[in-house]
Amino acid sequence: FNRCSYKGRFAPSPTGPLHFGSLLTALASYCEAKAHHGQWLVRIEDTDIPRIQAGAETAILTALEAFGFEWDETVVRQQDRLEYYEQALEQLKASGLIYACQCSRKQLSGLGGSNGLGTYPQTCRTLNLPFEQHAIRLKTIDQTICFDDLIQGYCCENLSQTTGDFVLKRRDGIISYQLAVVVDDALQGITHVVRGADLLDNTARQIWLGQCLHVPQLNYCHIPLAMNDQGQKLSKQNLAKPLDLRQAPQLIQQALQALNQADVEVDSPQRMLVRAVNQWDMGRVSRQGQLQGVFE
Ligand code: GLU
Repeated sequence: FNRCSYKGRFAPSPTGPLHFGSLLTALASYCEAKAHHGQWLVRIEDTDIPRIQAGAETAILTALEAFGFEWDETVVRQQDRLEYYEQALEQLKASGLIYACQCSRKQLSGLGGSNGLGTYPQTCRTLNLPFEQHAIRLKTIDQTICFDDLIQGYCCENLSQTTGDFVLKRRDGIISYQLAVVVDDALQGITHVVRGADLLDNTARQIWLGQCLHVPQLNYCHIPLAMNDQGQKLSKQNLAKPLDLRQAPQLIQQALQALNQADVEVDSPQRMLVRAVNQWDMGRVSRQGQLQGVFE
């Protein structure tokens, strides 16, 4: 079978409706894929059940259609793919790369670090606890992982000094984003990841996990985040406004402006996307990005 030379994806979590920041990511990943005559897939990342919002998946797909996006292959849902994540865990277990961990969040809090959990101190690494009913962690090694991000440049991280051994499956059985995303990108044959810069610091963990699973390394491009006028990043957490589907052409135009692309006049979303792809130049997306101010 002929592996496509460019396969990208948009992988929203159905934790709420799409907002302007999601539109930037969808547009950038779509235009970059189509400008490379590649494929573009949509994947629903719904492993974190407590955070799923009823109706969000339908709202997201409806919005993508209203904005003129057409995806290749059928949409996959991570909830339907749990067996693949378990297979990956089996493979890692056989290689001695994972272990069960009984540390509670409370025990680990106060260790500092960006999430307040700091570098995992390897408390359970040698305890040989049973895998059932416990969190599962991937061992990290004292080695610097580097990648060349198309927008953010050369990035390096030594996981043993940052996150330390990290969680692939929670004690409540929920598969972590890191595991699901690496397995799915590999199984779906994704070659290029274009996503928001808020996910940049997950990348080294995903590369390391990919190495442990012997899957090909991907190309990464992290686009700057959209900010609101208070300088906060737009996210579902700070209740960024859902996209108004009636304003789709105007919003596409604003999103292309925010991405520093050549102007595309207001037309049907489908025709605007064709033009956006023809004129697309990822090199014009700035690293910091003054994305604020073009929308309320
Ligand atoms: N599901 C993630 C999110 O909505 C994106 C995952 C990815 O692009 O790697 O933030």
